[in-house]
Amino acid sequence: MAILVLGGAGYIGSHTVYELIDSGADVVIADNLQTGYIQAVHPKARFYKGDIRDKAFLDNLFKQEKFEAVIHFAANSLVGESMVEPLKYYDNNLCGTMVLLKSMVENGIDNIVFSSTAATYGEPESIPILETDKTEPTNTYGETKLSMEKMFKWVSKAHGLRYVSLRYFNACGAHVSGEIGEAHNPESHLIPIILQVPNGQREAVSVFGDDYNTKDGTCVRDYIHVTDLAQAHILAVNYLKKGNESNIFNLGNGVGFTVNEVIETARKVTGHPIPAVIAPRRAGDPAILIASSEKAKKVLGWKPEHDSLEEIIASAWKWHKNHPKGFEK
Ligand code: UDP
Repeated sequence: MAILVLGGAGYIGSHTVYELIDSGADVVIADNLQTGYIQAVHPKARFYKGDIRDKAFLDNLFKQEKFEAVIHFAANSLVGESMVEPLKYYDNNLCGTMVLLKSMVENGIDNIVFSSTAATYGEPESIPILETDKTEPTNTYGETKLSMEKMFKWVSKAHGLRYVSLRYFNACGAHVSGEIGEAHNPESHLIPIILQVPNGQREAVSVFGDDYNTKDGTCVRDYIHVTDLAQAHILAVNYLKKGNESNIFNLGNGVGFTVNEVIETARKVTGHPIPAVIAPRRAGDPAILIASSEKAKKVLGWKPEHDSLEEIIASAWKWHKNHPKGFEK
């Protein structure tokens, strides 16, 4: 039986496929290639091009292949974009998940692990953030992910399907091989943007706000290596296969870095001065997001292996230096 990875040509999806295949799993990928890249598809995975909003596509896939679990990454995930195009997020993230769930229920597939986000919390009341803390998203992206979690909750009560929701903090870094990595077009994430400067593609980094209530006034985030996130998905699939109940887990290192600290670390790693300029705040950005991942460590046995910011940025730099245009030629 195979594992179906929806969105397996995207950033976190492709890294999870690499880890799954290394662990000996049989992997099928479905991706509409709107934000993912065919070049990121592992050569040992079976690939189907299609959209999760297309029920006939999913129904056919569930008839053609036999799946023991689904891992669902197929969503839009940019905070800034979600504030200017909210309906795109409702359509892909929520309508897509609704169609997927309909097809899974009809085809008797009852285990799913899916991508959620720290953005479900909004402005936290206390740090580090626990899974039981209040969820009041400050952006459309986080709101659609929270609504997805709720959809899973009610569908699981009615139809017996079990799920694990993984609330990622800031995914970053690249595969150890340097063969796959982060590639968004246009890019909006901090670390790839910073690395565009030493790559000669940008003069300076804009720092979105230096008047937050943090140690240097810039936003604090918990940066977690994409390979550590990938490992958590494998553990979550095993957790469901053992018959455990549906659950929600935070995934982060539990350490926060300001935007200025990330830029300074990138200067050290790349040996480039990387000029920074202060710009206005970006809509929807909470000041501080740091995870407590104690629950994932205790229940799933998860242990992040690549927890130094220098190592994370060095792995991203290895990828971006050798692939300045990402997967594009
Ligand atoms: N950020 C920044 N300049 C950029 C891109 C991002 O100052 O060019 C900041 C952003 O405001 C946030 C942090 O870097 O505080 C991480 O942003 P990113 O988009 O990487 O991830 P997010 O936290 O939105 O998931």
